[in-house]
Amino acid sequence: MQYHAYSVHNFRSIPQIANLTREQIDAIEVVGSVLPFKTNNYVVENLIDWSKAPDDPMFILTFPQKDMLSPEHYATMEKLILSGADKARIKEAADAIRLQLNPHPAGQIELNVPVWCGETLSGFQHKYRETVVFFPSQGQTCHAYCTFCFRWPQFSGMEGLKFASRESELLVDYVRGNPGVTDVLFTGGDPLIMKTKILESYLRPLLEADLPNLRHIRIGTKALGYWPYRFTTDDDAAGLLSLFREVKAAGKHLAFMANFNHPAELEGEAVEEAIARIIETGAVIRTQSPLLRHINDSPEVWAGIWQKQVDLGCIPYYMFVARDTGAQRYFSLPLVRAWEIFREAYQRVSGICRTVRGPVMSCLPGKVQILGTAAIQGQKLLTFRMIQGRNPDWVARPFFSEYDEAATWYTDLKPAFGEDFFFKAELDGILRNGAHHQKHEFE
Ligand SMILES: *Cc1c(COP(=O)(O)O)cnc(C)c1O
Ligand code: SF4
Repeated sequence: MQYHAYSVHNFRSIPQIANLTREQIDAIEVVGSVLPFKTNNYVVENLIDWSKAPDDPMFILTFPQKDMLSPEHYATMEKLILSGADKARIKEAADAIRLQLNPHPAGQIELNVPVWCGETLSGFQHKYRETVVFFPSQGQTCHAYCTFCFRWPQFSGMEGLKFASRESELLVDYVRGNPGVTDVLFTGGDPLIMKTKILESYLRPLLEADLPNLRHIRIGTKALGYWPYRFTTDDDAAGLLSLFREVKAAGKHLAFMANFNHPAELEGEAVEEAIARIIETGAVIRTQSPLLRHINDSPEVWAGIWQKQVDLGCIPYYMFVARDTGAQRYFSLPLVRAWEIFREAYQRVSGICRTVRGPVMSCLPGKVQILGTAAIQGQKLLTFRMIQGRNPDWVARPFFSEYDEAATWYTDLKPAFGEDFFFKAELDGILRNGAHHQKHEFE
């Protein structure tokens, strides 16, 4: 199939759009001028159930919705656009709104970008000892954009906010110089937007360097959901699969961190065939998704996602809590509700599907799992566990907060018993001293 993208400029040419109301179409244009909007012919023709639009989850996943902006922001943009303002004015207003939407949550810029031999590695993040996250400069877009995505500043053309790196050499040196690193995680955007040749130019130096500490090469991708033809009929699909085989032959574990948000993305021949072909190369597909209101906020949907993934040979890995950025107000659920959905879904499936960890907040101190509610001496509490920590010693430690039915993020929580969270003093130290301080803890 030939790939064809739709954005705010040409979405009106999609025939099914004609069945939406005038107001719904305007909303796509108004919100799509602030938040990134891109979808494609596979999503439009195979994944969206147009008989259910605008409430169809796959429609909401790629098409902007009015309530994704606050009423004030929406009104500002709508007025500008309807008044026929020029592009520059619209962009200026959109940028001002974007800046208010917490474009880089969890200290991503200041805290996670490593400094190496005096140079700031702007295309890298190194938050957890074992794993370097790498943003190849040519992989900073996707086959379609998810409306919930926290990577959105990278797509909306704001200067100075984009992570990028052309330097696979630097990546090799960095992994060599940091023996605690076992994993390199390619992310973006979607690294599989890159042609095989380009991806190869990043991967091959890593393999040829023969780094003894490097064990796992991970690729964070949504291509299976949004463009499975990347692995089947695209003209360089066969080369891509050979490249995966090479990783395996070099003795490295190749892991796909595949993003699937709804069971519809796992239906159909194209995705089934793509998954089978990847697995044939010796790679392993692990799956993850945030829990999203309007899209997948029910135990039935999650139990179905996990079961279907296992049927196809994938391993459920993370259920995330929607982050505090972009359109979070539209997607977020209280932490207590997130845990209930997780628990009810988890109870419905066998242990084979229970490799999934969740619900997990990827936040400033680390990855925090909500374990549930508890009562200690008559006091109702929420219990948590750190799954990843800026200090590896924090991992697998439980902690408590006061019970709070409204809390939607880690920052809303009050530590229980009038004490600080166990990691607070050390985290404050890291915040004061920057990533350098944390790096010393790694060595
Ligand atoms: C989630 C994440 C990782 C990977 O964590 P795993 O638990 O090993 O999958 C690495 N770096 C960052 C910044 C992350 O958010
Ligand atoms: S595919 Fe991934 S990076 Fe791209 S918009 Fe969706 S969640 Fe974000």
